[in-house]
Amino acid sequence: MPRVLLLGGTSEASAMARALAGAGVEAVFSYAGRTASPIAQPLPVRIGGFGGVEGLADYLREQAITHLVDATHPFAAQISANAVAACAQTSTALMALEREAWAPQDGDDWRIVPDLEAAVAALPSDPARVFLAIGRQNLEAFAGLPHHYLLRFVDPAPQPLSGASVVVDRGPFTVAGDLALMQAHGITHVVAKNAGGSGAAAKLEAARRLRLPVILIERPFVPARPVCRSVEAVMCWLHAGAPAERGV
Ligand code: NAP
Repeated sequence: MPRVLLLGGTSEASAMARALAGAGVEAVFSYAGRTASPIAQPLPVRIGGFGGVEGLADYLREQAITHLVDATHPFAAQISANAVAACAQTSTALMALEREAWAPQDGDDWRIVPDLEAAVAALPSDPARVFLAIGRQNLEAFAGLPHHYLLRFVDPAPQPLSGASVVVDRGPFTVAGDLALMQAHGITHVVAKNAGGSGAAAKLEAARRLRLPVILIERPFVPARPVCRSVEAVMCWLHAGAPAERGV
């Protein structure tokens, strides 16, 4: 029987947890501990960092983990790199559950940038009203500019951008809701990470309909690892050792 460590913090991880619990697979769910009120899970939960690659490798050995499923956010590159290294060290089977990246459609005005610094540079020099939809990490990079920011967090948190409007809400978001939000705040630009998936895509559809430019930050580098695109594919891999849909 497999014994699974599921690295979470995404809606995909919650769906994975439901599938594992429903199938009676022995598993532990791991949160980084970034939010004050993490979603309850139908599996035993541990919270907090492991202490780098060595700490994660020790945990895998101590807990007799046979399979690690990395369902962290595509921008959580450090923990994903640590998972690749720790699994290699301990001969633990590794699978990433990762959303397909978003691709532009007709009518989109996307400016694709490699990182946060490039996103800052892509904003106009004149004052703009920016929906800065990148979570609450790394906001300092946008301080000191003439723009008004709209921020959205899963729970109330201090933030470094003076005068910013803050909305506390947890996805999945709707197109109607994001259209209304962006119109109410007179948004002229959207800055987002290319997270992929459906839960956070509403803002892109809203921007498309409002003909607003989107500054989209590309995903960070993660070392090569096998990837599944669905919970069902991961379950198949766990039970039958089936190959991943895509190896990167
Ligand atoms: P990160 O930069 O890749 O990781 C930084 C450190 O946080 C890791 O080295 C690890 O500490 C710890 N960590 C991260 N995810 C963990 C997990 N699931 N369980 C235990 N420890 C974890 O990660 P991040 O970008 O800060 O993201 C943190 C969490 O928020 C992740 O669970 C991710 O799925 C979620 N999230 C991130 C974003 C985003 O845009 N980055 C968006 C939505 C949700 P140690 O080295 O001490 O083990």
